[in-house]
Amino acid sequence: MAAPTYGNITVDGGLTDWTTRDRLDIVPGTGVSGYEVYGKYAGNAYVLAIKSASSSSDPIGADTTVWLDTDQNANTGYQVFGFAGGAEYNVNFFTDSKPYLYTGAAGENYVTELLDYAYSNDGKTVELAIPVSLLNGSPQAVNLLIDVNNKVFLPGDYSLNKYTISANKILPERTDFSKQVGIVYSESTANQFFSKTAYSHLFMGMQYQATMAGIPFDVLTESDLTDINKIVNYDALIFPSFRNVPLSKVDAIENTLEDAVYKYGVSLITSGDFLSNDETGAVLPGDPYRRMKELLDVTRTGGGGPVNSTVKIHDYTNPVFQGYTSNEVIRNYNGTYYSTFGGVANQATVLADQVIDGQTYNAVLATTTGGKNVHFSSEALMGDNNLVWQALRWTVLDNKPSVGLNMSRNASIFISRNDMDQSMYVDEVSRVEVPLYNTLVEWKNNYNFVGSYYINVGNNPAQGEVTDWSVSGPLYRNYIALGNEIGTHSYTHPEDTNILTPAQLEFQFNQSQLVIEQQLGIDVLGAAIPGAPEGLSIGQELQKYLSYISGGYAGVGAGYPGAFGYQTPDSNMVYFAPNIAFDFSLIGFQKLTAQQAEAVWAQEYADVTRHTSQAIIHWPWHDYGPTSFEPGYTKEMFTNFIARAYNDNTEFVTLADLQQRIRSFEKAKLFESVNGDTITARVDSTDVGKFSLDVNSNQLIKSVNNWYAYDGTKVFLPKNGGDFTINLGATQDDVTHITALPMRSELLSLNGDGTNLEFSFVGDGKVALDLKALNGLKVVTEGADKTNLNGEILEMSFNTYGQHTGRIRFTTDSPPTVANAIADLNVNEDAPNTVISLANVFTDPDDDVSAIAKSIELNNNPNLVNARIDGNNLILAYQPDQFGTAQISIRATSNGKTVDDTFNITVNKVFNRIYG
Ligand SMILES: [Zn+2]
Repeated sequence: MAAPTYGNITVDGGLTDWTTRDRLDIVPGTGVSGYEVYGKYAGNAYVLAIKSASSSSDPIGADTTVWLDTDQNANTGYQVFGFAGGAEYNVNFFTDSKPYLYTGAAGENYVTELLDYAYSNDGKTVELAIPVSLLNGSPQAVNLLIDVNNKVFLPGDYSLNKYTISANKILPERTDFSKQVGIVYSESTANQFFSKTAYSHLFMGMQYQATMAGIPFDVLTESDLTDINKIVNYDALIFPSFRNVPLSKVDAIENTLEDAVYKYGVSLITSGDFLSNDETGAVLPGDPYRRMKELLDVTRTGGGGPVNSTVKIHDYTNPVFQGYTSNEVIRNYNGTYYSTFGGVANQATVLADQVIDGQTYNAVLATTTGGKNVHFSSEALMGDNNLVWQALRWTVLDNKPSVGLNMSRNASIFISRNDMDQSMYVDEVSRVEVPLYNTLVEWKNNYNFVGSYYINVGNNPAQGEVTDWSVSGPLYRNYIALGNEIGTHSYTHPEDTNILTPAQLEFQFNQSQLVIEQQLGIDVLGAAIPGAPEGLSIGQELQKYLSYISGGYAGVGAGYPGAFGYQTPDSNMVYFAPNIAFDFSLIGFQKLTAQQAEAVWAQEYADVTRHTSQAIIHWPWHDYGPTSFEPGYTKEMFTNFIARAYNDNTEFVTLADLQQRIRSFEKAKLFESVNGDTITARVDSTDVGKFSLDVNSNQLIKSVNNWYAYDGTKVFLPKNGGDFTINLGATQDDVTHITALPMRSELLSLNGDGTNLEFSFVGDGKVALDLKALNGLKVVTEGADKTNLNGEILEMSFNTYGQHTGRIRFTTDSPPTVANAIADLNVNEDAPNTVISLANVFTDPDDDVSAIAKSIELNNNPNLVNARIDGNNLILAYQPDQFGTAQISIRATSNGKTVDDTFNITVNKVFNRIYG
């Protein structure tokens, strides 16, 4: 007789039709070593498999009981041991070792016939099915407790845990295997946070960390966490802080996260208390750290404050955080509260310590539950330091070797914001905005520097607060022609946007935007908020009108640094918070000298870029700074800051450009796998022509199959992405490839064969190439305004902004040829010297004619005539009293190849002496 089947489960005593997703005992604390429990609702039955897996354990048999709490109410039904279960039914294995259904105590009141069941040959695995029709009310979910042979109890402690099987819980398959991380915005936590604006900074800081990890992200809400369908495609979830959770959703969120972690192996990156309090701030009933323990295998162990603390790397060789030195200080905190956490079932790996009063406590922990997790002991530790991107790489990519999607080909991204406060004062345009333009020309030439310039329109002509578009219009168009962006700094520069009504905000930002667009004939995408730092609500209002805004400074101790991204999950506007101090804050407000201000900027720059992968530097300054319009500023402090970043290989971009890149990054999909020294990656996008794939490996990019644009560590992507097979090694293959593209240029396409190459891009500037060894061949280029070849390094310059196609072709070198042969000579004895120009005798179809070297290859009668070359002239000197013939060959040498021109000289005897 065929074994009975329920759904996809065949009740045959074998486990091959079960998956780990069906395991009931996988959450820490719910299993017993050496046993496995599987369960699901299938074929209108609750189907179970129990395996006594270790060699020392007994076969399963009589007195084994499965307790069924079919109303999921532990207070009703039979109390196992007087306190557990609340079982309406039990399945008991009779002395014949066969399972029957009962009510009451184990085997007490017989309900029905023998259930479908099957043992494995060794009797250590049993499967059984309980048709739902046998259970009163056909329950759609049941809770279970199991004992095997009345000896082994599953779960191990009935008072703490139980198993649940739900009829309507269908665990979906993961459909998208691209690498991606979900970043969760907890509205409940934001509302209880010390500042909702700061929570938003932290949330955006995590988006920034995801861009540095190179892993595309989505932003998620608390509601998303109640639906496993919305979670299964993530490799990791980041919770900037998820202390507070709505009471009405906590069970659903816990269940979803439990499945995400244990059924799909999703990693969690968390900070501080996690799912411990409700939306009012009240501690959740029972053990508030139960959910941390279950999901992270971490619990709170202590805390206090305010204290001074030093956070240090615990073990600098740990692969989670790479690039640190032994005991390196991550940051000092003064007068702050602290918490400590530790592992529960398993010891957690300590990644960073906090040293307080000479005592060392855990600061950052790594654990493994379903996936790999990293827990930060506080939001500040998570948000202030560039640690999360590495934690993310470790959890999602296991660090090495791997690739991340980068928003630039350069080492960092630099967005410059200039608030043109003088722009609405009609008399000051010529004194400030004109000299500023001249400085920008200089910086463009020296550093390829561009930025974003935010203007005020002005609305009080009587006071001179107005824009004369006949003057300012052409000037701003010149700014734009340099590659800069013009945005709005509001209509009239209000000093505090927080007190404005929605209508006033509309006037200040939307109306000014419309005027500028109309006057300049451009799209205005963004605003720089004037005056005092603005709250979260301002951005939520302005997203109606703008694609992005740059707001108040955010940094350690003032919100959180690196606030680049979406302020909330429902925002479609990109937000940027400067992470470098305003020039005015340092000079105008703090009254620092220019030198002191430069030192502050240098320190901030070091802090912002330290231990990063493609940092974003957001630098705010004013039109009046470098133009000597206001006292205390020097042009040098600005020039030096720009030069520092330029020398560190930054890419200067406008905010309009970067906000588009962030949108494209968020939408892109990155697939990757690694096999030995080969990484296979695919990027799905239609807007990654300024992006790169950043290889995380201690080896170089040796070659990329059929792709010829990369440097040692980054593959340059074309606009439409594609498939890339990246081979790693100690040295690079000798093939013709692009090694650098101009800042801001967009690579469209590329075709090559390792020798010849054709590429197209949008932009202007220099494209650098490393050519295959020439080996006597020569290279022909097309498309560039200028080329410069130095050994195998070719530079192609494209002077004007636009779409360009460059071609490089290797060809055999054509030898020089004789263009104008030297005619035979006929002179008399003792004639004066003959001088012959060699300038036009030879030519070369593919080399520089002026570079042809000439030499005398043959003179078969030096007694008759002396031949020498002086510059480009051949000089023939006839020897005294000599006559006869001579043959002369002149050799032309061009790029190593030669041709000879031969002619004859006849010197006639003159009989003048006979008669003399
Ligand atoms: Zn301003």
